Amino acid sequence: MKRVVILTGAGMSAESGLGTFRGGGGLWDEYPVELVATPEGYASNPALVIEFYNKRRTELLRVVPNEGHRLVASLEKDYDVTVVTQNVDDLHERAGSTNIIHLHGELMKVCSSHSPQDLRYVRTLQPTAPTIALGDLAADGSQLRPYIVWFGEAVPYMSDAIAAMRDIDAFIIIGTSLNVYPAAGLLNYAPAGTPVYLIDPNDVNAVLPRNAIHIRKGASEGMRVLIDEYLKISK
Ligand code: NAD
Repeated sequence: MKRVVILTGAGMSAESGLGTFRGGGGLWDEYPVELVATPEGYASNPALVIEFYNKRRTELLRVVPNEGHRLVASLEKDYDVTVVTQNVDDLHERAGSTNIIHLHGELMKVCSSHSPQDLRYVRTLQPTAPTIALGDLAADGSQLRPYIVWFGEAVPYMSDAIAAMRDIDAFIIIGTSLNVYPAAGLLNYAPAGTPVYLIDPNDVNAVLPRNAIHIRKGASEGMRVLIDEYLKISK
C-alpha cells in the first residue's frame, strides 16, 4: 500500500470553528501567547494558564470535525496514512483517523508539572469534567498541568514524525503557516522528488520544493480537489 504523511496545523480546524493562531480572533487574542504557551508564563501565572486551557477544552467540546478531517480519515481506505498534527484538538481522532502523531500535545490530556512527558502521569479528562484547578495534583504530587508542548519545550514525538517520512509516496500539508519549528522542518525530510501538496487559502511563508502543488483552498474544498484531481481516487 502506498504511504502518505499529512502534516496539519491550525487551519485544518478553522472550518470547525476553532481559531487559528495567527489569524486573529478567538482565545489567542485575549491571552498573550508568551503568557499561555511558554514554561515561563506557566511559572509566573499558573492559574491564568490553567484557565486558558480550561476555556479551550470547553470550546473544543462544542465543535465537531469538518469535511476536511473526514476526507483525511477516508484516505486510509487507499493509503497507509500517518497524520502528523500540530493541533492539540482531537478532531482527527473524532473524524476516524487512526494513526496520529500529536507534535504539540493533546488538549484533553493533563500531566505532571514536574515531568510533563512522563506518560505514567498523563491523564485524559472526560467531556463531563473537562477542567482542572490549582491544587489538583498528578500522581507524582506535582500540580496537574495541560499536556501541551509549549514554545521552548522539547518536541518529543518529532523523531517519530521524521521516521514516518521515510519512503513516503506523497506529503500533504494542510493549514499550517510553516512558521513553528521543528514541525515546519518536516518538509526537509520528504524524499527528493516526492509529490508535495499544500492546501491553504493563503500564501505560506516557507521555501517549498519546486514540484510542490499549492491548492489555494480551505481544508474541506482543498481535500476534495486533491482527491479528485491529483490523487484521482475513484469513489
Ligand atoms: P497558524 O495559525 O500559524 O497558521 C494557520 C494556517 O492555516 C495559515 O497559513 C492560514 O492561511 C491557514 N488557514 C486558515 N484558514 C484555513 C482553512 N479554512 N483551511 C486551510 N488552511 C487555512 O497555525 P500553525 O502553523 O498550526 O501554528 C500555530 C501553532 O498554534 C501550532 O503550534 C498549533 O499547535 C497551535 N494551535 C493549535 C490549534 C488547534 O489545536 N486547533 C489552534 C490554534 C493554534
